Amino acid sequence: MKFAYIVSLPHSGSTILSYNLSEHPDIVFLGEIGYALQKLHESKSLTSPVLCSCGKPAAQCDFWSSVVERLPTRFDEQVGYEIVIEEFQKKFGESKLLLDSNKIVEPLYFLRTRAGLEIRGIHTTRDFRGAVVSEARRKKKKRPGRPEWITAIQAGFQWIRKNRGIQRSFAELDLDGMCQTSYEKLCKNPAGEVEKIWRFLGVAPHSYVGEESAQNAHLLAGNTLKTSGGTRTPIYDSRWKSSWIWWPCVLLMPILPLLNRRWVYGRD
Ligand SMILES: [Zn+2]
Repeated sequence: MKFAYIVSLPHSGSTILSYNLSEHPDIVFLGEIGYALQKLHESKSLTSPVLCSCGKPAAQCDFWSSVVERLPTRFDEQVGYEIVIEEFQKKFGESKLLLDSNKIVEPLYFLRTRAGLEIRGIHTTRDFRGAVVSEARRKKKKRPGRPEWITAIQAGFQWIRKNRGIQRSFAELDLDGMCQTSYEKLCKNPAGEVEKIWRFLGVAPHSYVGEESAQNAHLLAGNTLKTSGGTRTPIYDSRWKSSWIWWPCVLLMPILPLLNRRWVYGRD
């Protein structure tokens, strides 16, 4: 069974990318599976249901309902993943590709040892300037008293550290394939980038149209549907261009522009 695993830093466009990849008739996007399993586990003690991007609560969703029934009371991510994979095969057969977007590589270490899975990894990045500025904006809302330049420097440092970590883990895990893309590449040429990744994933040739209604996604988003509403279409967020907050990062970490060229704009 084909399994695609997308890893990125938070707010780097991995959800938009995944939604667009799921337009292919042989791909089903299930969101961040680890996060979904956690949400389902927590929801047992909460009154509000976990909603799926298909519009139904998880317990009534065409896909997640069968997973919900089987989940044990004690939380175990590996067991949860196994149930998801089994239910996926039952529902869609071996011909469909399961797409998991994640922020961490850890689940890959046990998925890699599971027989019968062909795992391809996609590392997606975002221009460090956009990443730094959006992180500074989010933190400012949470902690208005904190100087923005401190958040910016920390974000720049994390950008290097975490992206490097993803690269290292992918190499160490020796996956069945690895590919590198970025939010910038997707927004600049959605059809070209999506079709290139489809070829990498080994699915049948297909023409990208960018139609939301064609996307096959069951993404659990907690008790609000914050993942719908505009974020499925690759429209570039260029607000960072009017900000200088990323400058101290370049002064302190001169390697940033170099890595940015390689990981975000690099030719492959
Ligand atoms: Zn659903």
